[in-house]
Amino acid sequence: MRGAVMFGPGDVRVVERDEPRIVEATDAIIRVSAACVCGSDLWPYRGVEEMQWPAPMGHEYAGIVEDVGPAVEMITPGQFVVGSFWASDNACEICRAGYQSACVNRVPMGALGAQAELLRVPLADGTLVATPDLPEDDLIPSLLAASDVLGTGWFGAVAAEVGPGTTVAVVGDGAVGLLAVLAARELGAERIIAMSRPEPRQRIAREYGATDIVEERGDDGVARIKELTSGLGAHSVIEAVGTQESMMQAIHAARPGGHVGFVGVAHDVALPAMDLFWSLVHLHGGPAPVRRFLPELVDLIWNRQIDPGKVFDLELPLDEAQAGYEAMDGRTAIKVLLHP
Ligand SMILES: [Zn+2]
Repeated sequence: MRGAVMFGPGDVRVVERDEPRIVEATDAIIRVSAACVCGSDLWPYRGVEEMQWPAPMGHEYAGIVEDVGPAVEMITPGQFVVGSFWASDNACEICRAGYQSACVNRVPMGALGAQAELLRVPLADGTLVATPDLPEDDLIPSLLAASDVLGTGWFGAVAAEVGPGTTVAVVGDGAVGLLAVLAARELGAERIIAMSRPEPRQRIAREYGATDIVEERGDDGVARIKELTSGLGAHSVIEAVGTQESMMQAIHAARPGGHVGFVGVAHDVALPAMDLFWSLVHLHGGPAPVRRFLPELVDLIWNRQIDPGKVFDLELPLDEAQAGYEAMDGRTAIKVLLHP
């Protein structure tokens, strides 16, 4: 089968890979209907994050079940399924508390390489959520978005305690940031301030429910948020970048007693304890337990109440994965969908 493999920074090739087989009795094999490039794939692509090369790439997936192991009971061949970037049993104490991304039996899907024609999904019953029927083609991008970026943006909003009547600020205008705007709207936020500069991203942010746009960054961005909130700061801030600047911007943009949900994968971020001390904000974040939200998100997509697939502004055949990485690295695309 064909699959994308990163051979080193800046070097993604689609090559012939061994077809995955059932290894554990709890595995499923799915035929990937759509895969995509993640913002987090750009960290190794840019050489910022070390990896063991060559590395199969991709951790977001939606597709049709081809085969299941003998211990799989709920998932059956022929179903269309979506899963998270962590395989999880959805049964251990941590999973039952809603933190499936820290499941005691978790398996990282990125190591299995979802940018491919076929994918082995461990812990199939716990990991996968099936749609009621085979989806129409136009729903597939949105269902794929649920696998990571929507689920991650949603967790950011939940971690930031977004609720009815709140004022929310979103730091980051990648796919996760834009979908955090959508999540904030769905969770009842009254005012949603998106921090973004490029016009196409501002437009999607507004379509997803942003009421205000702030183009400034850093301290200037914080000052604008304060201006827009009677000097107080936002109730909820979602951080979806993962840099020192974005993290400090998020903490400083929250009001005392406010909540920051951080879902950008933090790289070289050091939090000054005195800033935290005086800020009086709550911090919660990490790798999103997407599985917690998947049934609800799949339902909202299936009933066409939300359209997170709009963040895919470039679709390419899997064989052109390298071009997809380049487009996201150069920010000419928000998110790239790959057709195996
Ligand atoms: Zn678990």
